[in-house]
Amino acid sequence: MNVLVGKNKYKLFLIMFFLFAIINGCSKNSALIENGISEYSIYVSENAAPGEKYAARELQKTLKKISGCELPIIHSNNTSAKMIFIGFDGAPKSILSDLTISKFGNEEFIIRTVGENLLIAGGKPRGTLYGVIGYLNNLGCRWYTREVVKIPKKSTIYISGEDIRQKPAFEYREAWYKEAYDSKWAMHNRLNPIAKPLTHGGVEHSILPTLDSLGGSYIIYPFAHTFYQLVPPDKYFKEHPEYFSLIDGERRAERFATQLCLTNPDVVNIATQTVFKWIKEHPQANVFTIDQMDGYGYCECGNCKKVDDAEGSHSGTLLRFVNQIADTVAKVYPNIKLQTLAYTYTEVPPKTIKPADNVIIRLCHYEYCSAHSMLGCDNHKPFIETLQAWKKITKRITIWDYFSNYHRYLLPLPNFEGVVNNVRYYADNGCIGLFAQGCNVPDNGGGEFTELRAWVFAQLMWNPWQDGWKLIDEFINNVYGPSAPYISKYIKMLQEKVKPDSVYFSIYAKPAEGGYLTVETLQKAEALFVQAQKAASGDAGLLKRVELAHLPILFSRLHFYSVGGRANLNKEEMPAVLEKFERIIREHKITKMAETDGHSDISAFVKRVKAANEFISDWQIIGPFENPDGKGLKISYPPEKEFIVDKAYEGLGGSKVKWQSYSNPLSGYIDFTKLFKMHEQGVTYAYRVFKMDEDKQLKVGIGSNDGVRMWLNGNLVLDHQTKRRAEPNQEILNLHFKTGDNTILIKVDQFGAGWGFYFSMLEGDIKSRN
Ligand SMILES: [Zn+2]
Ligand SMILES: [Zn+2]
Repeated sequence: MNVLVGKNKYKLFLIMFFLFAIINGCSKNSALIENGISEYSIYVSENAAPGEKYAARELQKTLKKISGCELPIIHSNNTSAKMIFIGFDGAPKSILSDLTISKFGNEEFIIRTVGENLLIAGGKPRGTLYGVIGYLNNLGCRWYTREVVKIPKKSTIYISGEDIRQKPAFEYREAWYKEAYDSKWAMHNRLNPIAKPLTHGGVEHSILPTLDSLGGSYIIYPFAHTFYQLVPPDKYFKEHPEYFSLIDGERRAERFATQLCLTNPDVVNIATQTVFKWIKEHPQANVFTIDQMDGYGYCECGNCKKVDDAEGSHSGTLLRFVNQIADTVAKVYPNIKLQTLAYTYTEVPPKTIKPADNVIIRLCHYEYCSAHSMLGCDNHKPFIETLQAWKKITKRITIWDYFSNYHRYLLPLPNFEGVVNNVRYYADNGCIGLFAQGCNVPDNGGGEFTELRAWVFAQLMWNPWQDGWKLIDEFINNVYGPSAPYISKYIKMLQEKVKPDSVYFSIYAKPAEGGYLTVETLQKAEALFVQAQKAASGDAGLLKRVELAHLPILFSRLHFYSVGGRANLNKEEMPAVLEKFERIIREHKITKMAETDGHSDISAFVKRVKAANEFISDWQIIGPFENPDGKGLKISYPPEKEFIVDKAYEGLGGSKVKWQSYSNPLSGYIDFTKLFKMHEQGVTYAYRVFKMDEDKQLKVGIGSNDGVRMWLNGNLVLDHQTKRRAEPNQEILNLHFKTGDNTILIKVDQFGAGWGFYFSMLEGDIKSRN
């Protein structure tokens, strides 16, 4: 054997060795656990923070679930043994080397391997725990829901070489879904929500943050709308009405309608004292809230008006007030931050006043387009301009964005483009926090896809530069298993429907708004859920989750039924669908269907469905005719004298108008705005023939927007001049129908906004209609 061959052989051996190492992730010596056996111990200092000690136990417990091997937790630092160091305390210099521990943010961590030792450590109080979660995430562990947790089985785990150093994109991360307030779920998904669900605009909010033993959370006190906690009207209004808003020459203090007089020096003093009291009483909080009550009612006194006029916005008086308190607080508590809203009448930033360095601006994004993301359509432009304007005067902006249907938590809501993209937009623009207002349903939760949304938000708030749709797919695949393809198809079908630029719906959208819940879509969705439920059979837990995902479609079908739509649900099928709806509601302990009181009552909804009338929704319609000075209802136009189907008449503004057929398969509401422009201030007629087998006395319900006249067989039976929103059965008439053909002519006028009517048969039914 010559030397050269030997050298080549040696080279080949080295290459083989490296290949082996690459394929296996590392050499044999750096296995943390090998075939379920480990020589490693988990070290955590006796003096570590509670969250760090918890992190050591979490790592121990989860590694055991993965590999079957339980690593001991030790507190004495024997550096000769193989060790996982949890937290910086007690970790040897050799592993810390270049790290400046004081530079780690309170949630920032590093995962580092030096020789045979592993370090998982971060800033206090949560960095180390989040590092352990990050490490377990890299091993494939996921905490999707409180029930569905994925822990992969691996008997061998290697430790890798590269440093991983991370911190969250936002310092404050809260997703307002009931499920996300489970302390352990929030910890595993690295949300730091401030509190248990809160009553909106209430006086005192209960604070129940993630336990310190689980790393604690980002604590703001109080949550929002705090003016009347700072200067309570109960205590001060009687003696000092001048502390409160001057509106139309009168001092007032009413919840949801008024605010404080922010330029009154006594108000500044009292509010400052309250803030100091709060700081003493809530030592765990480092953000305190000074912000307006919900609603409007800002002070119009001379001093306030002068500031606001000069600043071009009511944020002028607000920021001047907050800055005064912030300056006093900064002298005593340099680390405390004060937070205020940029919301409704304070959304636009002031011209010259800038927020003090210890002030956070909480900017709200609401009432824009829910169909598209921030950069996805022009409807977000006003908000983008506002955000950019605030960015010029402050570095501390936290966002309050709305991701639910405020009035209908259970309505299908294809707003996922906003969910996956808006978080990144906020991070790219340097925002420091995000409160994603979802649908927080008391007790157990259960709005539309709340667990999916909470999980995706949590991942994106940590790292917004991930592919959000990939996260959605991952969640669906793992949480819905064999039913996943159908759930995925369903979500994407609705999402596809709202893609066009022309689609718009807001967070207050009614079920038919946005146009994505058509008869066809609801049918397809129903079919997908039939398949999803079939695929889930035999797995009770999965079936329960699939049924919860189905609930919004059942809700939609029942809703359209309740307003007279029969295309997706007929009278015979309704009781079974309603029964299923009520069973799912019961099983998931859902107690509320909306943010707003008027829409949240489940039993009222069930009652409405059960009492749904037979609406007549196919009519001949002609209009609009002139409505001069709003008196058009009284002017007799040709349709009151004759019905000639193809004759043209002179209508509004000299236009030619003819009869046209109309029918609405989703609702009993005859919506004239589908035929005519909403702003046209006209009057319109609807005509129909009812055929009777015999003479009959029938009860008929009418609802109209706005005023209405009705003729039965040419005789005026209803004349009501009014301005109102249409609801079924605003008038109930007892009418005599004769054998054979009966004609009904309805005339409705218009004064802006909606335009249309309901017509229902309340007693008896019309068997033979034309
Ligand atoms: Zn004032
Ligand atoms: Zn849009």
